[in-house]
Amino acid sequence: MVIPYARQSISKQDLNAVAEVLQSDYLTQGPVVPAFEEAVARLVAAKFAVAGNSATSMLHIACLALGVTTGDLVWTSPISFVASANCALYCGAEIDFVDIDSETFNISPVALAAKLELAKKSNRLPKVIIPVHMGGQSCDMQAIGSLAQQYGIKVIEDASHAIGGSYNSQRIGNCAHSDITIFSFHPVKIITSGEGGMAITQDESLAHKMRMLRSHGITRDATEFEFANDGPWYYEQQELGFNYRLTDVAAALGLSQLQRIDSFIHQRNSIASRYSEAFASTLVVTPHIASKSISAFHLYIARCDFEKLSVTRVQLFQRMKDMGVLLNLHYIPIYRQPYFAKMGFDPKAFPNAERYYEQAFSIPMYADLTETDQNTVISSLLNALSTQ
Ligand SMILES: *Cc1c(COP(=O)(O)O)cnc(C)c1O
Repeated sequence: MVIPYARQSISKQDLNAVAEVLQSDYLTQGPVVPAFEEAVARLVAAKFAVAGNSATSMLHIACLALGVTTGDLVWTSPISFVASANCALYCGAEIDFVDIDSETFNISPVALAAKLELAKKSNRLPKVIIPVHMGGQSCDMQAIGSLAQQYGIKVIEDASHAIGGSYNSQRIGNCAHSDITIFSFHPVKIITSGEGGMAITQDESLAHKMRMLRSHGITRDATEFEFANDGPWYYEQQELGFNYRLTDVAAALGLSQLQRIDSFIHQRNSIASRYSEAFASTLVVTPHIASKSISAFHLYIARCDFEKLSVTRVQLFQRMKDMGVLLNLHYIPIYRQPYFAKMGFDPKAFPNAERYYEQAFSIPMYADLTETDQNTVISSLLNALSTQ
């Protein structure tokens, strides 16, 4: 049996919750989506939550709600999934990247401050920045938030890895230093709804815009109509929106999974501690743990200086696979993707992201990873790194 890098954890309760919706009147646009939204809002102490069919969709309409359009500039981390950058391109904006911190793998506030100062001089400040909580560990949101305020920039937290985690002893998602936070419910993430995402905000008008945009730009609220209300059938499309809705079937799975969020985070942190203990004083560099934060530990990102080893990373991946352990790499710097490279990015502008890409790999991490399987991962990795 192969040990994957990530997988979902599905309980009997999850199965029952989904079955119940399948036997109910509404498979979509029923009561479970709002119940899921309210539960997530309560968890993170936010006023508004807007569910959708993926984090990618929600990133898109979060950008639109903040007014991102043609000619605007959006900045994000180069070490992220491509969706963190694509959302800006969907709006006709241009994308640029801010180098990461070499310890946290998150956007470096120092690099951000320097880049903002230059951008201001050349009158090319971004409209929005999208910090990504890499692996589940929060960015330095206090520093990022205060820079954003200083320069009049909006902030979307891409917290696709981070639901259930905390920053400064508060849940990630309370938008204390941002306008909108986005969660993903893809099966590899902390909790899943199959596919799904959610946008969190404390701002009622942003929540309202995102609710409209996720469903064709349509409103049925008579108090909002621009034209005369023709009758009980009447609704208005006021914006160009999309069908980005989450189904009630998916929301039932998400809501059921949410009941176990704290145990998921606990299990992931226990697994991370065991890894870090096992790799202390070995060739494996373990991830940095920030104080006053709890990582959701979506990923356990190890690093090795392969230049000093007799094994290449390609060989490491192959040897691990031969031993039944699948590694992964999160992520190829976005500017290295052909689609982005054509925009003319120079990898030399992002030295920390480049070094990260030479050294990093993700090892298996999921709530149901057994101690036996974890021991297999540890011994296989040490073995694969030491043999010639
Ligand atoms: C998974 C992920 C996304 C996209 O999430 P989907 O729900 O699959 O659309 C966006 N950003 C990051 C950082 C992710 O890891």
